[in-house]
Amino acid sequence: MRVLHTRDDLRFLDELKRKRPLVLVPTMGALHEGHLSLVREAERYGAVVATIFVNPTQFGPGEDYDAYPRDLESDLERLRPLNVEAVFAPPVSLMYPEGSGVSIQPGSRGLGLCGGDRPGHFAGVLTVVAKLFGLTRPEIAVFGRKDAQQCLVIDQMVRDLEFPVRLIDAPTIREGDGLAMSSRNRYLDAEERSRALCLSQALREAERLVAGGERSAGKVRQRMWDHLSPADEIRYAEIRSVPDLQEPERMEGRILLAVSAQVGPARLIDNLVLEISDDAVREGSLLGDGER
Ligand code: AMP
Repeated sequence: MRVLHTRDDLRFLDELKRKRPLVLVPTMGALHEGHLSLVREAERYGAVVATIFVNPTQFGPGEDYDAYPRDLESDLERLRPLNVEAVFAPPVSLMYPEGSGVSIQPGSRGLGLCGGDRPGHFAGVLTVVAKLFGLTRPEIAVFGRKDAQQCLVIDQMVRDLEFPVRLIDAPTIREGDGLAMSSRNRYLDAEERSRALCLSQALREAERLVAGGERSAGKVRQRMWDHLSPADEIRYAEIRSVPDLQEPERMEGRILLAVSAQVGPARLIDNLVLEISDDAVREGSLLGDGER
């Protein structure tokens, strides 16, 4: 596993590409099993290059950019046992050199949810992802369904701007009790950790309601909202269509249940994608044909 920091270091990727497709797994580090599952998914498609970069432009004023956990050595230890050909960990000065200023604004999929709650967030995400694509030129890139709106906003960028890359969305990895893994979970103390369970529980309750035949989006949304009451602040509890992220009245087809709440010092998000037909409800994916 090669560790790359500079533009010159990236020449190593040309060697990799001669043999196999290059598969990019972008992360902000503080790696957990969720990130490692993306790497395992990526391995199936080619030579894996993981990136580790805490991207300043996707954090708003007052958010946790400074506090965000950074430990490159322990991240590298976690990646070493896996089939990772290279880790690209650039400095801020390479990603945002003096004089740079172009940024990419999200399209319609960036409205609402985290796009509403964190103004400027997705412009930061798209700009850094575009830059990483430009620097590494992957054939495939793997993103987690955990950040559902992020996946769909990136998908819209790739389509609208004709980026020659195929996107894969990988399932959310959870702790045994259902809490979605997140680098921000380490901000939680024991009491907050147990209250944080309300996010995944709200989603499961909503799923149960739909499985029991409820098709009113308003009622399902209310059920999620009710189950989020242990949180310190509910940021949103929303029902959206996939992939366009419109607000449907009825629970039909591919539907995203998305929640976000502040628990102690952590702003947490979670979601569930459901494939809903008249007689069945099952978990779905965000990108592709939904068959997963
Ligand atoms: P981050 O380091 O939080 O920017 O996340 C890097 C990538 O890992 C993104 O594509 C996330 O969606 C994905 N990811 C984060 N948490 C999980 C999880 N619990 N399961 C699967 N993927 C995840």
